Amino acid sequence: MSRSIYGTAFILLLTACSFGLGQTTSNHAERVAAILNDSQIKAASDYIDKNHESILQEWIAITEINAPSKQEQARAKYIEGLLRKYKLQSIRYDSAGNLIALRKGTGDGPTVVIDSHMDTVFQPGLKIKATVRDGRVYAPGVGDDTRNIEAMLAAIRALDAAKVKTKGDIIFLFTTDEEAGMSGAKAFTKENKDKVDYYIALDGGYEGFTYAGIGITWYRHHFIGPGGHTRSRTPPYSATLPLARAIERIYELKVPTNPSSNLNIGMLGGSEVVNAKAADAWFTVDLRSTDNAVIADLEKKIALILEEEAKSAGMTVKTDVISSSPAAVLPGNRESELVKVAEAVHRALGFDPPITSAGSNNASAALLQGISAISTGAGPCSDSHALTENCEIEPLYLGIKKVMLLGVALAGVAK
Ligand SMILES: [Zn+2]
Repeated sequence: MSRSIYGTAFILLLTACSFGLGQTTSNHAERVAAILNDSQIKAASDYIDKNHESILQEWIAITEINAPSKQEQARAKYIEGLLRKYKLQSIRYDSAGNLIALRKGTGDGPTVVIDSHMDTVFQPGLKIKATVRDGRVYAPGVGDDTRNIEAMLAAIRALDAAKVKTKGDIIFLFTTDEEAGMSGAKAFTKENKDKVDYYIALDGGYEGFTYAGIGITWYRHHFIGPGGHTRSRTPPYSATLPLARAIERIYELKVPTNPSSNLNIGMLGGSEVVNAKAADAWFTVDLRSTDNAVIADLEKKIALILEEEAKSAGMTVKTDVISSSPAAVLPGNRESELVKVAEAVHRALGFDPPITSAGSNNASAALLQGISAISTGAGPCSDSHALTENCEIEPLYLGIKKVMLLGVALAGVAK
């Protein structure tokens, strides 16, 4: 083929790219490829590969310090002790108990926050002992969120070992209370919203990432009836009858997939004994959507069904909202620099990242403050929030490289 045909093909390809993926996306891919080729970044990556065993041991050591929400101090102290050995410019606690480590840039780049949460969902006093078998590590909390704490620590050490400098500051943020209402991340993002350009919450996930927070409302609906013995005059029926009818109708409601939304009825209860009609029959509803209007609409439709079924059974209905957190959607975030860089980093490391709008973690706190944010994780794990929680070990090392690369690509490499 002649050069001119090559040239035409090249221009056509470029045109196709700019219509298809968008030119910026290919620019981001090139930028990330250049960073991966940088000799210092390669050295940092080698550091991670040469330290698999010590990374695993440290991951286990942190996991074994149980840290129920609002009782993170012992774990925080341990992490602080490690941070004190690194090349960081400041290490401090804020009023919410978050542990904040600053790795300063050369001064002309964006400020990137990388966070993981220190707290776990397990009861105070639980003795945790990790076991390793078949390439996995088993322990409550090992994944959520200790794998990401370890990924941040190992990433800092790798950057230090290879003397990598960034233009922007990277703030490594170890938060409190994510599992019980995110008060740590809420306090940090409220206080620092004008100083932070990009926020990465490491929590769950591995191959993909999310760019918006899903709204979640939990309800407990009660049908209240007269009750009575099995042999008492029927009707009135047990309050389980309107409950059953209502549940069937609720599941017939259309739950949109776009915006991403979910509905689940997971718990129910009635009488305490077999031989009594339920005077109080209840069930829970877990409603989720990235659009608060969808939640509001479904809530209204469910309330109508409950009223109709209560009325036809001659009963009343009572609804308790167990908890509620709004959807966190930042307009334009899907097209933001953060999301484009994150996509390029994931692809460069061989992931075909599912990019979804449905996270529920500290990234929501940042998004609600108007900070561009994503959430992802550094390794694949299972059984989160259960005593059987476990993670694959080998993928974490690539996950650490991902965390490091995300920070460097967003803050910019300084030479
Ligand atoms: Zn978590």
